[in-house]
Amino acid sequence: MIPNTRQLAETVAASLNALFGLALNSLCALCGKRSSAAICPGCVSTFERLESACCPKCGRPKFAPGSSDHARTIYCGECEERRIDRRKRWYFDRAVSLFLYEGRMREAILTLKYRRRFRIADVLGALFAQYFPHRLICESVEASSEFNVVIPVPLHISRLMEREFNQAAILARYVAEAMSLRVSYEVLERTRATAPQWTLTSIQQKIENVKGAFKVRRPKAIKDAKILLIDDIFTRGATANECAKTLMKAGAGSVVVGALSTPHLGHDTPGAAYESVEQRP
Ligand SMILES: [Zn+2]
Ligand SMILES: [Zn+2]
Repeated sequence: MIPNTRQLAETVAASLNALFGLALNSLCALCGKRSSAAICPGCVSTFERLESACCPKCGRPKFAPGSSDHARTIYCGECEERRIDRRKRWYFDRAVSLFLYEGRMREAILTLKYRRRFRIADVLGALFAQYFPHRLICESVEASSEFNVVIPVPLHISRLMEREFNQAAILARYVAEAMSLRVSYEVLERTRATAPQWTLTSIQQKIENVKGAFKVRRPKAIKDAKILLIDDIFTRGATANECAKTLMKAGAGSVVVGALSTPHLGHDTPGAAYESVEQRP
């Protein structure tokens, strides 16, 4: 049978898509060099792991790059302020991040989220699983066996349908497997679609944006539980804190936040990088 023009066009389009997909799959999503992995080893080697001089409460690097100001306080300025003013308190015990949200790491997260290069998720998930449990031990956070459950920061259903995946859930799955813990994807729900936090400038706007946006579906499931709450970025902590507040008010025993990355204090505008990624060809 001779195919008609439409069938022929569809066959050609499918072949081109397959070829294009193959070509993309053999290139590093960040530098464009030939690579069998979604991110080449060269790019991965530039990811900066956080090791010391981080605030023991929020986990962010305490000092601005190049700063010689080795402050005498244990906590960063914001955590000191939150300790004094109870209305601003953190509801989590600790937040611990693995990488600095800079350079190729920032690019990787933004490329995954906004250009939807799904294969990046597996590279980031595997790195998180490989290094994060050790980072918790180095930070003297409870031994992994003491956590009862891993919970990812949820997306609103409308955002999930638009993006087709929740990067926090992928990270949670990887790290939970490495730590032999179970993940609960359903217990914490985002009931309201909120503006992306990076579009807002002040911490107050970010706090208001997520206020009351989460709900615990089955409080019994987290009663007295020690929870490891997972997200991709810990920026000003407004989202993680609102989740922790919702979980604690629903009866959780404690919440530790685990994030793949965090920026330097004062570098709080991931959106700027988002624009630069969006503009790339
Ligand atoms: Zn690369
Ligand atoms: Zn802090």
